[in-house]
Amino acid sequence: MTELCDRSASELAELLRRGETSSVEVTRACLARMDALEPHLNAYLTRTDDLALEQAARADERIGAGDAPAVAGIPLALKDVLSTRGVRTTCGSRILETYVPPFDCTPWARLAEAGSVLLGKTNCDEFAMGSSNENSAFGPVRNPFDLERVPGGSSGGSAAAVAAGEAVWALGTDTGGSVRQPAALCGVVGLKPTYGLVSRYGLIAFASSLDTVGTFTRSVRDAAVLLQAIAGKAPMDATSLPDPVPDYVAALTGDVRRLRVGVISEAFGEGVQPAVAAGVRAAVDRLADLGADVGEVSLPQTDYALSAYYLIAPSEASSNLARYDGVRYGLRVEGRDSVEMMARTRGAGFGPEVKRRIMLGTYALSAGYYEAYYGQAQKVRTLIIRDYEAAFARYDVLVSPTSPTTAFRLGEKVDDPLAMYLSDVFTIPANLAGVPAISVPVGLDEAGLPIGLQLTAPVLREDLLLRVADALERELALDLRPPLVAA
Ligand code: GLN
Repeated sequence: MTELCDRSASELAELLRRGETSSVEVTRACLARMDALEPHLNAYLTRTDDLALEQAARADERIGAGDAPAVAGIPLALKDVLSTRGVRTTCGSRILETYVPPFDCTPWARLAEAGSVLLGKTNCDEFAMGSSNENSAFGPVRNPFDLERVPGGSSGGSAAAVAAGEAVWALGTDTGGSVRQPAALCGVVGLKPTYGLVSRYGLIAFASSLDTVGTFTRSVRDAAVLLQAIAGKAPMDATSLPDPVPDYVAALTGDVRRLRVGVISEAFGEGVQPAVAAGVRAAVDRLADLGADVGEVSLPQTDYALSAYYLIAPSEASSNLARYDGVRYGLRVEGRDSVEMMARTRGAGFGPEVKRRIMLGTYALSAGYYEAYYGQAQKVRTLIIRDYEAAFARYDVLVSPTSPTTAFRLGEKVDDPLAMYLSDVFTIPANLAGVPAISVPVGLDEAGLPIGLQLTAPVLREDLLLRVADALERELALDLRPPLVAA
């Protein structure tokens, strides 16, 4: 029998409602799985066992009283860039190793209010910069499908935890692919919403014009439920959108007949692992079998997306990370004067990738170079937005692989930043354009590693994204549990 911690949130909600299990039992199952697997995975930086059991007991009371929201009693993990009041939040960095936020990020505040259960804070690349989780100051996370391989990044801990039953679902953040790429590499569903749909309040900033909070789940239905709980206008985030939030679960009709699906032609070229291309193409054929109208579409400017991203994101990061000066919070390394103190603090507190980004960004923003680099990158961003507009005039959703390859080996790309940056070549364009995208598992490669398919939709059309993803998931009916757990 499938253990409680390996079930989907929607199945568990039903069992809870019928009184066939309790939130305390489900929470204990997740904690036991963490006891068993954390020595191998390192997916969590902080566990909140006591808090979780307390919240679970309270959720059980609410569920017993019969008026609990859909997320009540379901154990959740949060990426450690999401602020949690009273619970250490490190961003995977030495500079915030002992930082305890005085407030909750809005997504968690909403979930907590709805009776959600917090299992802990998950490992990630330092300040969410990376694609493999090897940039964490607290050691890499390992992929539950193969412990010698990376889980992807930067939200690798959240992805691995959900794949391995160490959490039923999780939140991560996606600035250039950090939800979708690890979801693809760990065989779970990863949703990056429209920029501004989910509040960024309390998300510790990396690149503010690109940062989004996204979901990791075991099913598309779960993604719809979790997104529903965190989406919508929030007073503390000026960029959060005022639009009414539709009923995402109601959008899961299973019907994709006559829906226009555009396969992105640029996404099947050089550098794409043949098994990934074949897996994605085969899944598209299934959508055609279901009655979707499939065609090819070109997004020519997306060739420049990676270059534009690696100017815009580091520029914003260099500005956002200026606040870690040893004065107000986090690490302080004393010096003879304040300048030496700051230099020593930042020198000791930040890892090599974060320093590389700060230097790149500071250079790109400097007088005389600003127009040539940052200004130019912003123009490219506009062209990419136009590419999407043109594509969405002809197609309802777009398809590509989520990542060019399945999970790579630990150490394989750490010494080659450019090779690492290429992992995000298919995910970054959606962040630059602000459009929503989702990664769904579509099978395994010859080494038994998960393949992810990415769907992209127009701004605020998460309903469409979820509808197509859910239809595909039903059609494929995969059971992608890692051997570690299935054994
Ligand atoms: N891997 C990309 C980067 O290193 C994206 C990170 C993210 O989405 N947070 O910037």
